[in-house]
Amino acid sequence: MPKILKFCSMDIIQQQLAAVRQRMAAASTSAGRQPGEVRLLLATKTVNADNIRRAALAGELLTGENKVQELTQKHAALQDLPLEKHFIGHLQTNKVKEVLRYVTCIQSVDRLSLAEALQKRLDQLNGTISIMVQVNTSFEDSKFGITPEEADNFIRALRVYDRLRITGLMTIGLFDADPEKVRPSFSLLRKIKEATLPADAALSMGMSGDLETAIEEGATMIRVGTAIFGQRMYPDSYYWNETNTTGGLSLP
Ligand SMILES: *Cc1c(COP(=O)(O)O)cnc(C)c1O
Repeated sequence: MPKILKFCSMDIIQQQLAAVRQRMAAASTSAGRQPGEVRLLLATKTVNADNIRRAALAGELLTGENKVQELTQKHAALQDLPLEKHFIGHLQTNKVKEVLRYVTCIQSVDRLSLAEALQKRLDQLNGTISIMVQVNTSFEDSKFGITPEEADNFIRALRVYDRLRITGLMTIGLFDADPEKVRPSFSLLRKIKEATLPADAALSMGMSGDLETAIEEGATMIRVGTAIFGQRMYPDSYYWNETNTTGGLSLP
């Protein structure tokens, strides 16, 4: 188990945030992009409401959760903040009704049965939602997402669901400390976008360890947890493996 860092003071979260913003700015500059082109999403799985609030007060209002249960648990404590909440984890169809109470975008749409369930519920609500299509660009079995080959047909098939607005693509890159090994994941997502969606569609890619590479490859949104909030107590396989998606999680 990695050593657990507990970031409790405002200063530390602010400092980490400043460091991440600096990394974003440096990567943007070296890639010849404007700093404002890339949005930062706070990946807040396992982060308690107090620490999310600290980051929000430091100016970051875009958040993403992986589990509906955590969204629900933290909702009341964060209700007064104008957060823009996205869902970035594996979404079970039986959680659709609940997730739609909290989020304005679901970044992890990866099967038509989920689109169908969202459409059905949104019919009842007479509403719409932004979605992104999650693509598995690392070819690892443990990750969710459609395969790159499926993307074109999948996106075509989604157009039937008129209550879902496809705003972009999302991926989790290959796990590797070497950015050059991760790069093909991100360039692949960009190529899929260029082939299937309008030029202004979003590319949600890049995390704590690989955000520079993602920005170089065209990310318009990076999703960062560890670099801001510290090491999590649970391994990411808890969130990303098919076999591990139903367990409960009690927050620190
Ligand atoms: C946890 C998570 C992130 C952030 O990962 P870090 O390495 O902690 O920055 C981004 N995207 C998804 C889908 C995640 O589950």
